[in-house]
Amino acid sequence: TGCKVCHRRNMSSSPSRLQGCMSAWIIDQYGSNGVLKYTEEITVPTICSATEVMIKVHAVSLNPLDVAMRGGYGAKLLKLRRDPLSVMDNDNEFPLILGRDLSGVVVDCGSGVTHFALGDEVWAAVPPWKQGSLAEYVTLTEYEVSHKPKVLSHIEAASIPYVANTSLSALVNGGGLCRDSSSNKRVLITGGSGGVGTFAIQLLKAWGAHVTVTCSQNAVGLVRGLGADEVLDYTAGDVVEQLEMMEKFDVVFDGVGGDTEEWAMGLLKPWSGAKYVTLVTPLLLNTDSMGLLDGTLNAWFSLQSKAIQNLLSSGVFYRWGFYAPDGPALDEVSKLVDAGKILPVVEAQFSFTQVPQAFQKLEKGHARGKTVVRVA
Ligand code: NDP
Repeated sequence: TGCKVCHRRNMSSSPSRLQGCMSAWIIDQYGSNGVLKYTEEITVPTICSATEVMIKVHAVSLNPLDVAMRGGYGAKLLKLRRDPLSVMDNDNEFPLILGRDLSGVVVDCGSGVTHFALGDEVWAAVPPWKQGSLAEYVTLTEYEVSHKPKVLSHIEAASIPYVANTSLSALVNGGGLCRDSSSNKRVLITGGSGGVGTFAIQLLKAWGAHVTVTCSQNAVGLVRGLGADEVLDYTAGDVVEQLEMMEKFDVVFDGVGGDTEEWAMGLLKPWSGAKYVTLVTPLLLNTDSMGLLDGTLNAWFSLQSKAIQNLLSSGVFYRWGFYAPDGPALDEVSKLVDAGKILPVVEAQFSFTQVPQAFQKLEKGHARGKTVVRVA
């Protein structure tokens, strides 16, 4: 009656608990799209702790991270997180299930679960160190899960959790913003047309911030429709010059990276607590290429030296933002969605048989919101 995956005792409170095999898209090696495989022989992830819930997945959305992880991005650090004592064999991450977002229904609960019951409609962003959501069932701790907004279908709901958890973690912890402190704060979002950007614009507008966005010309209408106050087309002329003529910002939220940080720091209000937060960090690339210790130290020194340099020269904070699993944060987002303040932005839908095509769509770039896969 134990879990075949982690060998722990089954902690389900349900006498008719689910067992056996399920269908899933897996990889058993890293590589290009050809490594994605459909199988019906993956063991159903049994409840192994009293606080876990098992979810039947109805819809999943993809993120750039899924494409990167398919190719081995972050493998060393994520493997350490899955198996800190390295007690399993070398390829212990395989078969690996990708997919981070999900919307679905609770089908089993651990004996200590307090917030969820069988049949509840939920949404969640599965941490990258856990088996992903491109599967019939996923098991998560109840802290990682939230009740899905009532007004959304599963397809729509699946488009939000990962970008929501990322935006909230980065904007609150890195940018020092929250519902009560954002009123009239000037925020610049680079990469406003993608998954994170289309969510962050709406969240910041719901919190009362003034939002400026950079995007391509053919996304201007989309981001304006989501509430952006000022929109700059980065493909037409010198966007930096245009931004430099504007009033300075309290927060820059960077979803583009590259040379953006070189010019974005100068757009922040000096000596007034302004913050630059980037989602594009070298941490996982470094640990992949240099190993865990050297890679982490190199990333840490790079972060600290930039942070100190910017603080001393202009009094602005330089920070990295990361996704963090957080069910209660999704509860807050759920309320904003049900109140009509945040809309899902689903650009493309694929069936469960078309997962490789969904990855191809993502790999082409130029996202306008999210790509979603229907599972059930
Ligand atoms: P998407 O692929 O959904 O969106 C990226 C968007 O940026 C696209 O709409 C693209 O459209 C636009 N874009 C590209 N170049 C520029 C540019 N120079 N200026 C303005 N816009 C541009 O990605 P996400 O929104 O999901 O994520 C954004 C970034 O954040 C990714 O690099 C992702 O890996 C990272 N991320 C990091 C996380 C973390 O924990 N650190 C978590 C989540 C995301 P177009 O090319 O047509 O302009």
